[in-house]
Amino acid sequence: MDLSTGAKSNAHTPNGMIKPGAFRVIAGPCTVESYDQFFEGAKAVKESGFGYIRGGAFKPRTSPYSFQGLGREGLEIMSEVASRFGLKVVTEVMDPYDIELVMEHAEVIQIGARNMQNFSLLRRIGAAIAGTDHGAILKRGLAASVDEWLLAAEYITSEGAENVVLCERGIRTFETSTRFTLDLSAIIVAKRLTDLPVIVDPSHAAGRRDLVIPLSKASVAAEADGLLVESHHEPENALCDAEQALSVGDLKGLKDALSPFAGAMGREVV
Ligand code: PEP
Ligand code: MN
Repeated sequence: MDLSTGAKSNAHTPNGMIKPGAFRVIAGPCTVESYDQFFEGAKAVKESGFGYIRGGAFKPRTSPYSFQGLGREGLEIMSEVASRFGLKVVTEVMDPYDIELVMEHAEVIQIGARNMQNFSLLRRIGAAIAGTDHGAILKRGLAASVDEWLLAAEYITSEGAENVVLCERGIRTFETSTRFTLDLSAIIVAKRLTDLPVIVDPSHAAGRRDLVIPLSKASVAAEADGLLVESHHEPENALCDAEQALSVGDLKGLKDALSPFAGAMGREVV
């Protein structure tokens, strides 16, 4: 993006994750807890009609005393289970040293909100995925402007990476009824400034499961290209972000819940 002219950058970027006319749903647990837990998660994602599963092996926890993720073992669980169900894996990388390892186990690298402006991480991920089928999802920082977010994405694309997707996940405001505030305007504004797809994470934005489906519908109407949502087979027992995880029943109803809205926007939920 050229901020002085407002000209779109990344024009006609090919994108493996988001095909024209599709509304891509990526679902799964906040974190990989065990083989059985991730297996149940993957089964639910598959049975809900979605092709991408999320899960964290390296977790950016606010407290160093909270569960930090299973690391390498978590990656191995994800790739093994996902391949059984024919799903693609989305997972976060926090440390440049883990990029190669993560790419062996996941198709899409997530860059978390807390690392949105970790420029050396962005460059290394961009260089690592350039010329491969791997993709990257760049979360918007908790207090980042749209311009800062788009410029951060250019650290990745300027290394030659093409399959890059932006993710609005809520920003810090004075409002306390939700964990963060989902910035619907940012979706529309970002899409006017770049051709990179923009997806929405209503789970971290809301921090509460009762708002996830309504915010998902709003995201479709606000021209989003997809969703990143958290789900768990036993939401109340989730080790991380339990309050916001959709149940299996909710996940199975998500496609039907979104389809009328997606249809109105000329898209199919996949
Ligand atoms: C996540 O997706 O699990 C996560 C930690 O997200 P964010 O970086 O948006 O907080
Ligand atoms: Mn989470």
